[in-house]
Amino acid sequence: MSSKFKLYNRLKYIFIDTGNSDSILIKDNGKNMLIDGAENDDEKSLVEYLKMQEVKKLDYIVLTHPDADHCGALDAVIKNFEIGIVLIGNGSADTKTYKDCVQAATNKNLKPSVPLEDKIVTLGNGTFQFYNTKSQSKDVNDRSLIMLYKNDEHEFLFTGDAGWQRCRKIYLR
Ligand SMILES: [Zn+2]
Repeated sequence: MSSKFKLYNRLKYIFIDTGNSDSILIKDNGKNMLIDGAENDDEKSLVEYLKMQEVKKLDYIVLTHPDADHCGALDAVIKNFEIGIVLIGNGSADTKTYKDCVQAATNKNLKPSVPLEDKIVTLGNGTFQFYNTKSQSKDVNDRSLIMLYKNDEHEFLFTGDAGWQRCRKIYLR
C-alpha cells in the first residue's frame, strides 16, 4: 500500500557543512539535486560526502552564481558523478574557479544554461520554480538564481547570495 508518509520519508534536505561556502543536497525518491558546490579546497570532502549519501547521479546541478565559494568544488563533482542538467545564474565570471567548472561541464558534453524566468523543474514529489533569471545587477550576488521549492507539505526559498530586496517579492507573493 502506498501512503503519503512513505513518500515524504524519502525527501531529504542536507545543508552540507563546508565551512564558509555553500552546498545543498536535495534527495527525493531517488532523484538528486545539488545547489552550489562549495570551495576549491572542499573538492575531496564534497565528493566523498555525496558518495556517502549514496549519490550516483545528480539529476540537476544548480549554480546560483559564479562566486568561488559556490562553484569551487563543482568541477570535481561533475568529474566524479553522472550529471543530468546543469542550470546556472545569469552572467559569468572571469575567474579560474568558474572556468574550471564550465570546462568540466563542457568536457562531459553538458551544456550549462540559464533557466527561463518562472521555469518549473520537478524533482521527486516536489517542484522548483526559478526566479531572478535575467538579473543584470552589477552585484554578482544579486544575480543569484532564486528557487521556490514546493510540495504538498512544504515551501522553501533558496536564495543563493541574493539580497533580501530580490527575494522579498517572491517571498511575499
Ligand atoms: Zn556570492
